[in-house]
Amino acid sequence: LIDHQGSDLSVARAARVSYEAAWRAGKDVGSDAKLIRYLWTHEHTSPFEAVTFTFEVKAPIFVLRQWQRHRTWSYNEVSARYTELPEEFYVPSAENVGEQATKNKQGRQPSALDRTGELFSYRIACEAAFDTYRELLDAGWPRELARNVLPLATYSHMFATVNLRNLAHFLSLRLDPHAQWEIQQYAKALTFLIGPIVPVCLDAFRINGELP
Ligand SMILES: Cc1cc2nc3c(=O)[nH]c(=O)nc-3n(C[C@H](O)[C@H](O)[C@H](O)COP(=O)(O)OP(=O)(O)OC[C@H]3O[C@@H](n4cnc5c(N)ncnc54)[C@H](O)[C@@H]3O)c2cc1C
Repeated sequence: LIDHQGSDLSVARAARVSYEAAWRAGKDVGSDAKLIRYLWTHEHTSPFEAVTFTFEVKAPIFVLRQWQRHRTWSYNEVSARYTELPEEFYVPSAENVGEQATKNKQGRQPSALDRTGELFSYRIACEAAFDTYRELLDAGWPRELARNVLPLATYSHMFATVNLRNLAHFLSLRLDPHAQWEIQQYAKALTFLIGPIVPVCLDAFRINGELP
């Protein structure tokens, strides 16, 4: 978490302007919590936009590709046109590979198969891609084309800014077991990072079943 503006109190304050009530400056925490739960339950969501967060994210390109489908965030990502990408790529753990799910066409399911040998091939393929990348750069290829040989497992890096309302929506989709396991881990990390700042809002999202 690089930066944030606001907290639970900002949500209560933004809502109370509707009826010109005095700010309670967080003195009546119980009342703020009740109000926040009421707002979320009744889809009075604009007060949740009073809180914003900026995260610095390092993740494999396939995770960032899923993440950036969320159009309500603002992003700035490292440009592989400007700069060479370091040789860093994601390798799943052998226990976490599993196999293609039979009930969910997009997902995976646990498997008793030993994936150690295949993971060796996976790693060799990624290393070979980076070898080619460097060969092309050494031969004078422009960075914007040489990068095309790199795998989706390559780590990239971005700053991402979002307000709390849209973050709640992201979390509801990406903490869900239907989301890919890897992006679920990032969603869990975000929940952990914002927990101390908006604990009451997080509880409200959970009460309504938006978050697990
Ligand atoms: C498990 C899972 C599987 C997925 N599989 C695929 C897939 O196979 N292929 C694929 O292409 N995508 C896939 N997606 C991406 C998905 O379709 C959404 O693009 C992504 O989850 C972002 O959701 P969103 O549009 O609600 O969020 P945001 O873009 O953050 O938008 C938030 C909300 O704003 C509103 N909004 C934003 N932009 C518009 C707009 N232009 N018009 C109308 N309303 C708008 C909507 O109410 C939207 O819910 C998948 C997502 C998940 C979670």
